[in-house]
Amino acid sequence: MSLAKPKILVVEDEAALVELLTYNLERAGFDTRVARDGEEAELAIAEDKPDLVVLDWMLPYVSGIEICRRLRRRPTTRDLPIILLTARSEEADRVRGLEAGADDYVVKPFSPRELVARVGAVLRRTRPGGDNELLNYADLQMDMAAHRVTRDGRPVALGPTEYRLLHQFLSHPGRVFSREQLLNAVWGYDAVIEPRTVDVHIRRLRKALNDGDRPDLIRTVRSAGYALDAAA
Ligand code: CA
Repeated sequence: MSLAKPKILVVEDEAALVELLTYNLERAGFDTRVARDGEEAELAIAEDKPDLVVLDWMLPYVSGIEICRRLRRRPTTRDLPIILLTARSEEADRVRGLEAGADDYVVKPFSPRELVARVGAVLRRTRPGGDNELLNYADLQMDMAAHRVTRDGRPVALGPTEYRLLHQFLSHPGRVFSREQLLNAVWGYDAVIEPRTVDVHIRRLRKALNDGDRPDLIRTVRSAGYALDAAA
């Protein structure tokens, strides 16, 4: 089990887009590294394997789609999650991208929020060990295989949204999440949901966790958001 930030390798040659991507991914709690072309990408992956690659289709020397194929052929990178980034929106191109082995496909221009949400969704879907992972914090434990949460050994009953919220907090204990970040992570990029909805689910999560007058584990940070914090 690792509580480290997921590592994202951004493979893109346009400086402005690199900045937009790294800024938004870092803000959402990811560690980012950048490669400008396929060769740099292969070196970066060999040096420190990322948890996911955001790969632009249009790159100098070797196209993103060819890099994607190469990564899929190699046993060490066969399972590396890849999101392909491209200006091509034709159905045929989409299919080509997915056939080359990309896990998802984002068409430019995209909103940073959408990209961050896609990264989160692909990681949830593909992260190895995600199904038998135990997440712990203070006296809280989440057994992802059994889909069960306990506090101090006693079961905590949670609805699906509260479960996903808690999973997000347990994956980054102590980190303050804004309502928007929680919306992205828990509801997804295509959800049309009022930020206030987050407050409602936080209230339910708190009630379930703190049942029996136990110390509150969720800290409200005024005008910033929420964090899992035993010192709350
Ligand atoms: Ca490019």
